[in-house]
Amino acid sequence: MRTLITGGAGFIGSHLCERFLEEGHDVVCVDNLITGRLSNIDHLRDNPRFTFVAHDVSQPLKVDGPIDNVLHFASPASPIDYLKYPIQTLKVGSLGTHNMLGLAKAKQSRFLLASTSEVYGDPEQHPQREDYWGHVNCVGVRGCYDEAKRFSEAIVMAYHRTHGINTRIVRIFNTYGERMRLDDGRVLPNFMGQALRGEPLTVYGDGKQTRSFCYVSDLVEGICRLLEVEFHEPVNLGNPDEVTILQFAEEIRELVGANCRIEFRPLPQDDPKVRRPDISRARELLGWEPRVPRSEGLRRTLEHFRREI
Ligand code: NAD
Ligand code: UDP
Repeated sequence: MRTLITGGAGFIGSHLCERFLEEGHDVVCVDNLITGRLSNIDHLRDNPRFTFVAHDVSQPLKVDGPIDNVLHFASPASPIDYLKYPIQTLKVGSLGTHNMLGLAKAKQSRFLLASTSEVYGDPEQHPQREDYWGHVNCVGVRGCYDEAKRFSEAIVMAYHRTHGINTRIVRIFNTYGERMRLDDGRVLPNFMGQALRGEPLTVYGDGKQTRSFCYVSDLVEGICRLLEVEFHEPVNLGNPDEVTILQFAEEIRELVGANCRIEFRPLPQDDPKVRRPDISRARELLGWEPRVPRSEGLRRTLEHFRREI
């Protein structure tokens, strides 16, 4: 098996590279390092079955030899990152997804798209099921990411229906773990970095908005299982254990053992008020559910950030 992973030098991508190497695959990691880091894959580069290709997948890519799986994970993913790179985000979701589907078509490979809970926008249904069409502000600041992923899903389905490509779509909910960047602006690295430095924890809005955090090894397991079943509609993967952001700040402060204040800051535009996956589909289809409780996942992630800081 030969598996090509775009965005493989990013947070989730690097865990996927590791997992597929462990499963005995040859892994081709394609990344332009816009938000990823070579240090995420340093430990893999001596493996003769691992290849790194520095390339922007919004440009066409030629790869020699057969490819069995294309996993398309390239895209800025944190709100801070995609606000900084809105055009690159739109391009990688549209041109990049088109290019990678073209590659999958030429190589007759399976194709898996990393989509997101952001396709549901600021949801009016709770928890979010896959048959909910979403509530997205296309001209708001998050539109570059949300609409790029919605376009990605549409073109994946078009390639499946028109060319019979063997596709999968995974809608990933907030995932965390080792190798997140301390400065990526997402809530967990922000709170952990702040608590470790003894700075105030910045809670946006009143902190009553909710998220549901999934540890990365659980997500990776779900992705591997999804690849093995014939199912082409989107599948939510995430941990339904929902928490308010204020509660989350308090949990992290206690875990770090820091005595810092909580500082309230303005809520960013279009920040979803609630988010929790309905994972019935993944449970039935894949026999999957998350195994790592938040307390354990946070403990492991904190060790990583203690080393980083
Ligand atoms: P990340 O920023 O750590 O990883 C993204 C990787 O893609 C980076 O290494 C970046 O350099 C690379 N990349 C971006 N544009 C590229 C391009 N044009 N060509 C080649 N490489 C490019 O983010 P992540 O959290 O690991 O997210 C990975 C994927 O999972 C993204 O597609 C994201 O939308 C999706 N996702 C993540 C989450 C989450 O909670 N982490 C939630 C939903 C969806
Ligand atoms: N958030 C916060 N403080 C921070 C960073 C984020 O209160 O320092 C909030 C943010 O407003 C959102 C939630 O935490 O409600 C999750 O934000 P994140 O950027 O991690 O990702 P999102 O789920 O919004 O894509």
